[in-house]
Amino acid sequence: MDWDRERAGHLGTLAVWAGEEEARWQGATQVPVVLSVGYGYFDVDAWYEVALGQRPGHIYSRNTNPTVAAFEEKVRVLEGAEAATSFSTGMAAISSTLYTLLAPGDRLVSVKDTYGGTNKLFLEFLPRIGIEAVLCNTSDHEEIEREVAKGCRVLYLETPTNPTLKVLDIARLAEAGHRVGAVVVVDNTFATPINQNPLALGADLVVHSATKFLGGHADALGGVVCGRADLVKGIYHYREINGAALEAMSAYLLLRGMKTLALRIQRQNENAFRIARFLQDHPLVEVVYYPGLETHEQYAVARRQMRGFGGVLSFALKGGFEAARALLPQLRRAHRAANLGAVETTVGVPRTTSHVESTAEERRAMGIPEGLVRYSVGIEDVDDLIADLEQALVKVQQSVG
Ligand code: PLP
Repeated sequence: MDWDRERAGHLGTLAVWAGEEEARWQGATQVPVVLSVGYGYFDVDAWYEVALGQRPGHIYSRNTNPTVAAFEEKVRVLEGAEAATSFSTGMAAISSTLYTLLAPGDRLVSVKDTYGGTNKLFLEFLPRIGIEAVLCNTSDHEEIEREVAKGCRVLYLETPTNPTLKVLDIARLAEAGHRVGAVVVVDNTFATPINQNPLALGADLVVHSATKFLGGHADALGGVVCGRADLVKGIYHYREINGAALEAMSAYLLLRGMKTLALRIQRQNENAFRIARFLQDHPLVEVVYYPGLETHEQYAVARRQMRGFGGVLSFALKGGFEAARALLPQLRRAHRAANLGAVETTVGVPRTTSHVESTAEERRAMGIPEGLVRYSVGIEDVDDLIADLEQALVKVQQSVG
């Protein structure tokens, strides 16, 4: 089936159907979980041809696996990519991409607000092998363009960012990157392919933590990279050797989760917008970060490049970290956990979750207030979530004053 020609306006259908035909087995309507590590061949010549990639098939599940391939194909189609390859986690996808694209002496340009693990790669691991990572102020597109113009091998973007929901203009920055021959990579975890397609805006590669919205049920880790076939081929080759392969059971759970991706994201977009508006008007709330609010710094860019604004928002209470600490235990309709993007609302304080690896100084540099609360909205009835926040905020007022 040529799903690629049918993308526009059909993402809900693609989320359900794409990628699954090849992997069906004996008429089963669902993709099987192929736990086999190896694949047998009577004919040594056929085996050899599969190994050389001259005929379809699988050899060894660290390299390819039918369940994993179905997951990769679904993401590939939803992102409108030429090729896709998957990983055991989002960080495996990001680090493998960077270690494939970069060599000692290369320069990478990115922004200060990226996911904490990605930031650690930039600040700790890449410099160890002689790769310079220049991190610009996230809201300053001119500064990013200036640094890119000095030359770089990779321009790495994340939009919206975790956890301050800043938005980068992908088309504008991709153009700047291509002017100097850089590979433009975008982490699309927060937006998902339902809300935003970075490749259509000029990016070369898209990475995802599939652990989040793609899977959507907080029960499987995974990562994926998709985009230009020549680049994905190299990244796949690196993954064959570093071994950070996605496991079949996780691939199945992610694949099943993705069937409801469009439905979930639509609901999470609506819920998050309502909650952002509620928090914005609340007297105890200092600031709300959500790209769908007209007060958001990059609202115009977000409207231009996103179809919806996503299920994550963050906010800071007037009482700082003490108030955030008082708020979390009072919430009844939210897991207090490090994850995001699940069907259940999940809440965390970046200081103790996504950016726990960073020092207070680094968090300040990334513009993350110590009392910031990251709120990943689930698919619950939004009035229940608002009522929950309301009662919790009353208790915070009583305890912190
Ligand atoms: N990218 C973003 C934007 C994330 O939020 C995360 C995790 O929170 C990652 C990458 C890393 O993904 P994983 O936890 O699957 O390794």
